[in-house]
Amino acid sequence: MMNYHLLPISEILELLDTNSKGLHTAEAEERIARYGKNELKEKKKVSVFVLLLHQFKDVMVLILLLAAIISFAVGDVKDTIVILVIVVLNAIIGFIQEYRAEKAMEALKKMSAFNATVRRGGTIVQIAASELVPGDIIILEAGMSVPADIRLTETYSLKVEEAALTGESNAVEKNTTEITVENSPLGDRFNMAYKTTIVTYGRGEGIVVATGMDTEIGRIAQLLQEDETKTPLQKRLADFGKKLSFVVVFICLIIYGAGLLRGEDPIKMLLTAISVAVAAIPEALPAVITIALALGAKRMVSKNALIRKLPAVETLGSVTYICSDKTGTITQNKMTVMDAWIAPKEVKIETFSGEELLLLAMELNHDVIEVEDKILKGDPTEVALVEYTRKNKNYDQKWLTDFKRQHELPFDSVRKCMTTIYHLKGKWLIVTKGAVETIVSKCDEVNSEEINKAIENFAQQGKRVLGYAIKYIDTLPNSISIETIENNLKFIGLVAMIDPPREEVIQAIDDCHTAGITPVMITGDHPITAKAIATETKILRHKTDRVITGLELATFTEEEFEKEIEYIKVYARVSPEQKLNIVKALQKKNHFVAMTGDGVNDAPALKRANIGIAMGITGTDVSKEAAHMILLDDNFATIIKAVREGRRIFDNIRKFIKYTMTSNSGEVWTIFLAPLIGLPIPLLPIHILWINLVTDGLPGLAFASEQAEEDILQRPPRKTDESIFSGGVGVHILWVGLLMGAICIGTQGWAIHAGNEKWMTMVFTVLSISQMGHAMAIRSEWKSLFNQGVFGNKQLLGAVFLTLGLQIAVIYVPFLQDIFRTQALSAVELLICLSLSSIVFWAVEIEKWSKRRNSKPQGGSQALIVHDAGRNYL
Ligand code: ADP
Ligand code: MG
Repeated sequence: MMNYHLLPISEILELLDTNSKGLHTAEAEERIARYGKNELKEKKKVSVFVLLLHQFKDVMVLILLLAAIISFAVGDVKDTIVILVIVVLNAIIGFIQEYRAEKAMEALKKMSAFNATVRRGGTIVQIAASELVPGDIIILEAGMSVPADIRLTETYSLKVEEAALTGESNAVEKNTTEITVENSPLGDRFNMAYKTTIVTYGRGEGIVVATGMDTEIGRIAQLLQEDETKTPLQKRLADFGKKLSFVVVFICLIIYGAGLLRGEDPIKMLLTAISVAVAAIPEALPAVITIALALGAKRMVSKNALIRKLPAVETLGSVTYICSDKTGTITQNKMTVMDAWIAPKEVKIETFSGEELLLLAMELNHDVIEVEDKILKGDPTEVALVEYTRKNKNYDQKWLTDFKRQHELPFDSVRKCMTTIYHLKGKWLIVTKGAVETIVSKCDEVNSEEINKAIENFAQQGKRVLGYAIKYIDTLPNSISIETIENNLKFIGLVAMIDPPREEVIQAIDDCHTAGITPVMITGDHPITAKAIATETKILRHKTDRVITGLELATFTEEEFEKEIEYIKVYARVSPEQKLNIVKALQKKNHFVAMTGDGVNDAPALKRANIGIAMGITGTDVSKEAAHMILLDDNFATIIKAVREGRRIFDNIRKFIKYTMTSNSGEVWTIFLAPLIGLPIPLLPIHILWINLVTDGLPGLAFASEQAEEDILQRPPRKTDESIFSGGVGVHILWVGLLMGAICIGTQGWAIHAGNEKWMTMVFTVLSISQMGHAMAIRSEWKSLFNQGVFGNKQLLGAVFLTLGLQIAVIYVPFLQDIFRTQALSAVELLICLSLSSIVFWAVEIEKWSKRRNSKPQGGSQALIVHDAGRNYL
C-alpha cells in the first residue's frame, strides 16, 4: 500500500496518471476492469443450495421424515412415498418463496446505494459510488459517506468523523498539506479521507487513491454487518408458536391415548397424532411474514417508498405522528426568486451601487456547480439565486472571472448562514447570507424595524426570505473563523423566493387526519413563512393549533413541553438537535413517530424515530444510512401512501394468519372431537397432511395480493402492543374452527348412520372445501364477498379453483384414489358435500353482516369513532 499522505499532490497525480480535470470516461472504464468495482465484499451470500437445504432443517420436517420411516418399517410403502412427496413439495414452495423474498431485498439494497460527484473529462458528473476508480477526482460535501480512500487536494472547513476506522467519534478537521511523519496513524493523516468515514462539515475535493477492498476499511475487512432485526409481529408469533406447540403436543397425546384406549392400532395412532401436530403447529408463520414484508417492500418501491429496514413495513401502520420538513417535502423545492429589497441606507463599495452589490453578493455566495449541459446543481435555494442573477440585466459575466473565492465558512443548519471571502483591489470583500435574524445579529448599525416589516410582508405570502450582508476590510484576521469574520457586517438587502406547496400534499394531510395521524411541520425557516405554508396545506386547522420557534422551545422545561406538545403543529427556526427532543417528547407520550430529515445532523433524530425517513433526491448519505425508509421523490404524500401500504400488508398478514389458524383449528377439532363422541378417527394421516399442505398452503399465499380495505385510511393507527388475535381474530379462529369440526363430524356421523361406507372421503372433501369457502369469506373484514367483488383477488380465486380441482382429482383419479384411499362420490353425494362445505362461508358472511349492522356508516371524524369502537380497534 502506497503512503499517499506523505506525497505532494503533483506526484500523486502523476503516479495515478490523472490530472485535476479528472479521468476520461474511457480510461475510467478501463480502470474498472483493472481494479474492479469500488465495493466491499459482502459477507458470504447464502447459496441457492444452502437455501434449499435450509427448508429441510425444520423440526416439523424431521418429524415428518420420522413418520415416513415408521410407515416404511410397518411395510406401508405407499404412505412413505406420499409423506416424502409432501416434504419435498413443502420444501420447494418454501424455497421459491424465500428465494423471491431474498431477491426482492437484494434489489432494494442496490437501490439505496450511494452516488459520487466526480470530475470526468473536464465536466462534473454524478456516478454510482461503486464506479469510482483510482485517479478519479471527487468532490466531497457535508453529509457524505466517503466512498473511497482519498488524498485531499482542496478543503473548505472540511471535517470528517472517522469513528468507523479510528474509534474517535469527534470529527477531525482536514487540510491538504503533506505529512512528514512516516508512520503516522490513520487518525493523524489530516490530508486523507477514508472510505466509510463521514463528512460532517464543509466541502472538499480530492484524488481517489484506493477503492473497494484496497481501501483501509477493506483491508480490515471487518464488514458492517446488516443487523437482522425481527419485526415485533415475528417476535410475538414465534413466542406464541412455542406456547401453542405445547398445547398441540398435549392434544396429540390425548388423541394418541384415547386411540389406544379404544383399541386402535398403535402405529396408526402414532402417525395420526404426528400428522395433527404437523398440521396444527404454525411453524412457518414467522418465515411467511418475512416473505410478505419483503414482497410488500418491493411493491412499495413502485410508490416511491424505499424500505431500508424491513420491520418498518409492518410498523408503518402504527404511525400516529408524522413530523415533516417543510422545504422540499411539503413544498416542491422548485424555488424562484420573486422579490428583492435593498436596505434604504444604501451601502456602496468601489463602483458598485446598492442594487448591484446585492446582485453581486447573490452571484458570489453559493455552492452551486454547473454540471453537463449548463445544468445547475446544488441546494435549490441557491440554484434559484443563481438563476435569478444570471437573468438580471445588471449581471456582469466578468464577475465570474474577476472574483476568485479565497476562503469560505460553509452553511450549517444550526448557525443558518454562510460566508465567502474575496480579493478586491488589494482589500477583502466578505459576503454573508442566511436567515435574516442571524444576519441582523452580525451587523452593526441596522434598522431592524424596517427590515422586520419587509420580511413580514414577504413571509406572510409564504415566501422564503434570505438576508445579505457584507464587509469590506483592508486586512484579514490571522485566523479565519466564524467568530473573527462574521461580525460588524453591513446589511445590504433581502431576497424573497416562492416555493409553492406540492399539490398532492393537501389531500395527503387530509388523509393523515382521517387516519388518526397528526402531521407536524418542522423547519429551519422563518415562523411566518412556515405558518403561511402550514395554513395553506391545512397542517394548521384547529383554533388551538400552535406555531412555536426553536427559541421558545429552548425556554420550555421538559414538563411544559410535554403539556404543550400535542397542540404544536409547526416548529420554526429549529436546529437539528431540537428535532431529537421533539421525537423523544412525543414518544414519551406514547406516540409512534415518523420523522423526516435530510442533513448530516438529522441522523440522531432519524435513528431515534420509530420510522426515520430520509430524502432520496436531496438527502445526504448519512441521513439515508440512519433512516428506515427513503422517499425516492422527497414527497410528503409518499409517506401517507407508504402508511396505507403498510396497513394493507399488515391487514393481509392478519388475514393469512386468520385463514391458516382457523384451518388448523378446524382440523384439530375434527380429529380430536370425533373419538370423544364415540366415532372412529375421521381422517387418515395423509389426508391431514394433504389438507395442511395444499388446502391451507395455496390459498394462504394468495392473501398477500388482497386489495386494501376501503376504510384503510379512515381508522386509527394500530396500537403497537395490540395482539394479532385481538379485534375478534382469536375468537374467529376458535368458533369457525369448531364449526368446521362440527360439520365434519356431523357429516361423518350421518354417513356412518346411513350406512354409507364412503364416509371418510366425504369428511375429507367437506373439510377441504369448507376451507375454500372460508378463504373467500375472510377476504374482507367487513364487506360481503358479493359487495366486494368475487373476482377482486384473482390469485386467490385461482388458488381456490386449483385446490378444488386437485381435491376432485384426489377423489376420482384411480391412481390417486389408491394413494389417498378415497372412493368416487356419486353426484348426489358430491352435491351434499358441497352444500355442507358452504355452511362455513355463509356463517362468516353472517358474522360480517352483524359487524356491519353494529357499526354506523362512515364519514367524518365523528362517525369514525363509533365505527371503530364497533371494530374493537381501540
Ligand atoms: P429548511 O430546509 O427547513 O427550510 P434549513 O435548515 O435548510 O431549513 O434552512 C434554515 C434557514 O437557513 C433558511 O430559512 C434560510 O434562512 C437559511 N438558509 C438555507 N439555506 C441557506 C444557504 N444555502 N445559505 C445561507 N442560508 C441558508
Ligand atoms: Mg434545507
